[in-house]
Amino acid sequence: MSEAFNVTEIFGENVFNDTVMKQRLPKKVYEELRRTIDKGVELDIHIADVVANAMKDWAIEKGATHYTHWFQPLTGVTAEKHDSFISSPGTDGKVLMQFSGKELVKGEPDASSFPSGGLRATFEARGYTAWDCTSPAFVKQDAAGAILCIPTAFCSYTGEALDKKTPLLRSMEAVNTQALRILRLFGNTTSARVTPSVGSEQEYFLVDRKKYLKRKDLIFTGRTLFGAMPPKGQELDDHYFGTIRERIASYMKDLNEELWKLGVPAKTQHNEVAPAQHELAPIFEEANIAVDHNQLIMELMKKVAGRHDLVCLLHEKPFAGVNGSGKHNNWSLTTDDGINLLDPGKTPHENVQFLLVLTAIMKAVDTHADLLRESAGNHGNDHRLGANEAPPAVISMFLGEQLGDVLNQLINTGNATSSLKAGRLQTGVSTIPNIKKDATDRNRTSPFAFTGNKFEFRMVGSSDSVASPNVVLNTIVAEVFCDIADELEKADDFDSAVHDLIKKMATEHQRIVFNGDGYSDEWLEEAERRGLPNIKTTVDAIPALTTPKAVKLFEKFGVFTKAELESRAEVQYEAYAKAINIEARAMIDIAGKQIIPSVIKATIDLAGSINEVTAACEDADVSVQTELLQETSALLSETKVALAKLQDIVAEAADKEEGKEQAEYFKDVVKPAMLALRAPVDKLEMIVDKDAWPMPSYGDLIFEV
Ligand code: ADP
Ligand code: MG
Repeated sequence: MSEAFNVTEIFGENVFNDTVMKQRLPKKVYEELRRTIDKGVELDIHIADVVANAMKDWAIEKGATHYTHWFQPLTGVTAEKHDSFISSPGTDGKVLMQFSGKELVKGEPDASSFPSGGLRATFEARGYTAWDCTSPAFVKQDAAGAILCIPTAFCSYTGEALDKKTPLLRSMEAVNTQALRILRLFGNTTSARVTPSVGSEQEYFLVDRKKYLKRKDLIFTGRTLFGAMPPKGQELDDHYFGTIRERIASYMKDLNEELWKLGVPAKTQHNEVAPAQHELAPIFEEANIAVDHNQLIMELMKKVAGRHDLVCLLHEKPFAGVNGSGKHNNWSLTTDDGINLLDPGKTPHENVQFLLVLTAIMKAVDTHADLLRESAGNHGNDHRLGANEAPPAVISMFLGEQLGDVLNQLINTGNATSSLKAGRLQTGVSTIPNIKKDATDRNRTSPFAFTGNKFEFRMVGSSDSVASPNVVLNTIVAEVFCDIADELEKADDFDSAVHDLIKKMATEHQRIVFNGDGYSDEWLEEAERRGLPNIKTTVDAIPALTTPKAVKLFEKFGVFTKAELESRAEVQYEAYAKAINIEARAMIDIAGKQIIPSVIKATIDLAGSINEVTAACEDADVSVQTELLQETSALLSETKVALAKLQDIVAEAADKEEGKEQAEYFKDVVKPAMLALRAPVDKLEMIVDKDAWPMPSYGDLIFEV
């Protein structure tokens, strides 16, 4: 068992945070740096030198020998290249440990192998990483030693964003500027900054490492490509919030410790719906830091699992037939002096500023539903969205009873005069106090739900960075804020102009609000009547990035250029095609080398047993064995036919043009062929002797962790 630790002592101990900076930097330097962090004032290189030196000394005390610019290329995972602090040896043959301001501020990784979607040809591979001082540096410690990690943005020689962080920072600036205009209109002169706050709940699976190693599909693709359902699934709901088993609890304890050391405020942990599925939620933070921290959460989830002989699966759908994993992106807007713009207060009908913000978000989400959908798309998430477990692929907004009622009053009478009260919860047990209820119940089926003082975007995939959804949210809301501010700044009578605007936006965009069951078929029909887009797959969602509407939006706020958007679309098509290609090839490999040989052996055993039995007793009834042999042989030949077909189809993919055409081919032609191969194999698994089956079953994987 690992040792006990004091949480408040270890929290942030490996972070070059404000406390450390205050302690280790000369006062003037500290103040300059703070100005850069808080106000975006450009940093002087002499200041950077002092900061770099202090950072290096601090990191060396933590055991660091190297530093790295830590960045987030379009692969969706983080990248690092380590450089040691040593200087070139002097005449005495000794080295010094050095780290300059220049090295802190700028790096130049050989960037040719990161996806750029045509933004950068490999022969002009220059890419730069630039220090993002708004996200604190940290020291990562592991068996290999310790590394000072400096969060950075990653751009091309010509300044185009090649990463997830740069557009996020740009979008945060956009929403800050526009939100401040709104606040000023309401007479707020004191707030200096508005920042999106983000808390992303992370779902994951844990499986036993020894079993995992026997599943090539998990190894190559992160999900099972074959697998029959066990007799029990998740129907009893006995795993959700269930007692956490000791092996898992000990994993969670280690994970929390690692996260806390890195200043990640891991807060909530519980078992999720599917067997072997769990969730971790941190306390919300500034979007930029929350995105970095979510990357660290995913990285550490995997790393710590290894120490417990477990493997953490972050794929959106590791197992067919049981729930997949997502990431709920909780989002709100907060001022530097602590005002949450999404807080309705007790009487939302009187809170004009809140109603303006709320209806602005309605307009933003309705106008750019396609972009939000796109931001949550990846090949894994296609198994979830629209399946009967995750939110549907249609974007709609849940507001709940109280706000729904306020909006209806506004739309119908032009005036909202009351807010439904929350009331008290009567438990009927005298020893339990009657607790105060929320004004609104929850809705678990909505992709975009208002939950008290924030919106929860639930479509995001578990393996994805949360950067893209937040880039979209920040920018689409900035756009509406900008339009509103343009209009209201000109208004003669502010009060009546605001009132009219709220009513107008509520009326024009009420179609996006849906408070019912998002999983039902009726809703899909209703959504179609309302004209809401139902974009079923990632490949179908990608074009949303490059519509004239999207280009205008992102260019207006300097978040993406048209070229950057086109490159991102290209990267996503390629990522999709590559992922499905790997899955198909893994299936071919597993079916050909493991499943078919095992089933052939099983048929030989069956035939042998028929012979043996009849040899021992001529008139013994061998109808069961015979039937089984017939059934197995039939499925075996079905498997072989499907395998051959998949092989041909995959081979043809090479003839398709890279990008959209190839991605569509994988979606429309390769995926159905994969399912056609899976079907007979899953049936075989149900009838072939368990000991003869070449890999652990779903039951082994998810019920015996
Ligand atoms: P839920 O409402 O989903 O049950 P919580 O209230 O615990 O759960 O919040 C879920 C996530 O939302 C957590 O990461 C939490 O920190 C985050 N969160 C809470 N308030 C806000 C807010 N104002 N803005 C952004 N995220 C928030
Ligand atoms: Mg939640």
